Amino acid sequence: MTTDYPPKRFILDVPVHDLTYAETVELFRSFIAEGRFHHVVTINPEFVIASRRQPAFRRVLRQADLALPDGAFLLLAGRMLGQPLRQRVTGVDTVAYIAQEAARYGWRLFFLGAAPGVASRAAQILTQRYPGLQVVGTYAGSPRPTDAADILSLIRQAAPHILFVAYGAPAQDVWIEAHRPDLPVQVAMGVGGAFDFIAGVTYRAPRWMQDAGLEWLHRLYQQPWRWRRMTALPLFAILVVLRRLSGNKNSHT
Ligand code: UDP
Repeated sequence: MTTDYPPKRFILDVPVHDLTYAETVELFRSFIAEGRFHHVVTINPEFVIASRRQPAFRRVLRQADLALPDGAFLLLAGRMLGQPLRQRVTGVDTVAYIAQEAARYGWRLFFLGAAPGVASRAAQILTQRYPGLQVVGTYAGSPRPTDAADILSLIRQAAPHILFVAYGAPAQDVWIEAHRPDLPVQVAMGVGGAFDFIAGVTYRAPRWMQDAGLEWLHRLYQQPWRWRRMTALPLFAILVVLRRLSGNKNSHT
């Protein structure tokens, strides 16, 4: 069984798949049927900037099996660079869609990361929303190497199909890639603040703000300490404009 992948675009040299939520769910189904390990990442402008500063993170993103376009500015950049992306596919909505499908098809999920109690609260909420859902393990843990043995042992015992990891980027995806050979799952995906949103620890921007590409402003209002990380946004915009002016050369190298 092989998977048919959607088209791959390049945003400032970072690969991103052009896909919809429905296609994402189909790809997860195919990954599980295939049986081997797959790493899913959710690309936003902060990822793109971090990958330019950290070669190890850049390698992780290039090796990932599937890269979801998570970020309104990513779609805008795609339009400017002739790398069209049809839909924004966020980590948090993907977790919810996958939970819905998992309840229907018996896929087992494991929630790793976030502050103590948050992943289990998110699991409880999703299980109420999608009866029959099996979240076979939740654990806060940490991306520190000293915690890895305990975490891997818990995952092995729970035997999930899908592992969601919420340690923020780049830590979560570097952790997944580092433990790839020891993860007995079909899909591992870094989900950032998804458990916080689902558990109600943080709140998503209203729909109109999401549609207007202003979700970042809402997050900044809720979590002002993010301002330093968010300097990635203007830098991303400047680099996209410069790349466009230079004719988007070298975008596939
Ligand atoms: N987190 C964690 N351990 C860490 C660092 C972060 O569990 O050492 C969690 C944090 O509690 C939050 C998530 O990782 O639930 C990251 O959320 P954030 O909103 O920063 O993610 P982003 O999507 O912006 O990368």
